[in-house]
Amino acid sequence: MTSRGILMLARPCVNEQNVKVHRQGTLRGPCGCRSQQLNFSTMAVLASGKATVRDLRRVNRAAVLKQLFQEGPLNRSELAQLTSLSSASITNVTSALLDEGLVLQVGREQSDGGRPRALLQVNPAFGALLGVEVGETRIRVDAFDLGMTLVASANVASHPQYQQPSETLRLVGLTVSELCEKLAAEGRRALGVGVAAPGIVGYQGGELQVHAPNIGWRNVALQPLADQVGLPVFADNGAKALGQAEMWLGAGRGASHAAVALWGTGVGAAIFTDGALYRGATSSAGEWGHTTLVAGGKACRCGAFGCLEAYIGSRALLEEWCRADPGAAQLADPDSEDWLDRFVEAAGAGGKAAEALERVGTYLGTGVANLVNLFNPEKVVLGGWIGVKLGPVVISTVRETVGQQALEYTAGGAAIEIGKLGPEAVALGAALLVVDGLLLGGPALPGQQAARGRPKSLRVG
Ligand SMILES: [Zn+2]
Repeated sequence: MTSRGILMLARPCVNEQNVKVHRQGTLRGPCGCRSQQLNFSTMAVLASGKATVRDLRRVNRAAVLKQLFQEGPLNRSELAQLTSLSSASITNVTSALLDEGLVLQVGREQSDGGRPRALLQVNPAFGALLGVEVGETRIRVDAFDLGMTLVASANVASHPQYQQPSETLRLVGLTVSELCEKLAAEGRRALGVGVAAPGIVGYQGGELQVHAPNIGWRNVALQPLADQVGLPVFADNGAKALGQAEMWLGAGRGASHAAVALWGTGVGAAIFTDGALYRGATSSAGEWGHTTLVAGGKACRCGAFGCLEAYIGSRALLEEWCRADPGAAQLADPDSEDWLDRFVEAAGAGGKAAEALERVGTYLGTGVANLVNLFNPEKVVLGGWIGVKLGPVVISTVRETVGQQALEYTAGGAAIEIGKLGPEAVALGAALLVVDGLLLGGPALPGQQAARGRPKSLRVG
């Protein structure tokens, strides 16, 4: 996996006997190892050339855990194959993980002519992860076990656009604490909190902040949330969190080059190249919704004109429906998501509503064609609350438009699919930030990351 905290410049070989850092593009090192993606802090340790045995154990532990999270249950032989670690290293790492209780043996499977092999998986009951989806009109907190099964959920009593960020953050903290108490009563220990926000998430002056003007958050520090809940807090942009979730557990699984689109109130995308999230210079890459669809076109809330979001974002869809059926659409509550169901239902009967959705499909298809031409993905995944509802309705138009507008050779290799994780995928992706940061990466060093100006173990607390 990928998103948060991947250093894209180098790939390590993580066999303890053969510690080397390979440049990107060198898919196999001198030891013949497969390419691996590890988080930034781990990579920084290796790239520094000052790796200690302890560091390497941490790297190996992360590599094994990652495979168990994504592909488990697995036997030790499969783990060795997937991680390129030696059998001895796998034995050492899995023994430690079993002792910690983070991994369980869940049975045995027959091997050809050999002894039955023990199957290992991450222990779902080891702890709970909290994922906070800060949306533009609502905030939800979901709790997952380590099998990434939803175990508890709550909505935060705040409309982020109408409340001061500090008050919203306080209410998030309150909800997280209440959920933690509930989890504790069930014997579940909370390990950390991931926050997905609709804006740019990064370090300013060494402090992890969210800059999301759409909801009035301007450089809002997350340290107070960590202080309030007493847990490590990780954060990332919502589209990137969604991308992470779909790449780990959803429609993006197995793809190395993919674009995961968040189609919701706003529009964004997470771009994965060679399995790693592309962030750009200041971690704001993927603002696909604000790429220009029509020069001098409709005003966008970002201040520019003709942006894709101005044609397919929730506000634009509501406008389309108002034009198609003013009587029905006037009753729609823009903050509720029910109106989209009624729009789709109306389109099912044909007429102007159907024409409107056809138009939306063409706009989206044009945007996807741009992604395809720019990034040459093998897969484009449509997610977000609108994506999962409207995607199946417009996907044939989208595919047709991409076929017409993207380069033939490139478009032919790009599968376009709907996200598999449903509308909760952003909160799930937020919870995965904790896995990525806490379990795979170990303690982060925010000061160092800020100084490097590179992404990012986006953590406080
Ligand atoms: Zn815009």
